[in-house]
Formats: sequence, C-alpha cells, structure tokens
Amino acid sequence: MAKVVYIDQDECIGCESCVGICPDVFAMDDGAGKARVVNPDGAPEEQIQEAIDTCPAQCIHWE
Ligand code: SF4
Repeated sequence: MAKVVYIDQDECIGCESCVGICPDVFAMDDGAGKARVVNPDGAPEEQIQEAIDTCPAQCIHWE
C-alpha cells in the first residue's frame, strides 16, 4: 500500500518550510496559519521525506 503523507495540524507552527520544499504537496491554510496537505501525490517520496525530516515541529508523518 502506498504511503500517504499527513500533517498533525495541532503541532504545526506555520513555518512554511514544507511548502517551500514541496509546493505542490503542501499549502498554507491562511485562516489557521498552519500547513495542510493539498496533494499527497504532488512530489516524489524522497522530496516529501525531505520535508518530513526538516519540519521543525516534526509534525509531518506517513500513514
Ligand atoms: Fe508546519 Fe512542519 Fe510545515 Fe513548518 S514544516 S509549516 S511546522 S508542517
């Protein structure tokens, strides 16, 4: 089964790092000031993994 990326928005600090790394996968939810997943298939797995590894709040996960 393919891995699907998700964000634990309770932990997100809205730094926009993930959006910078994978702009087709993540976007800022301007109302909430937090990132959200807009297209889980919008980037290669390695690129999404880089966003996961560099998220300062460690709130991006695979499910
Ligand atoms: Fe939120 Fe992490 Fe993305 Fe920063 S990198 S906006 S903390 S999900």
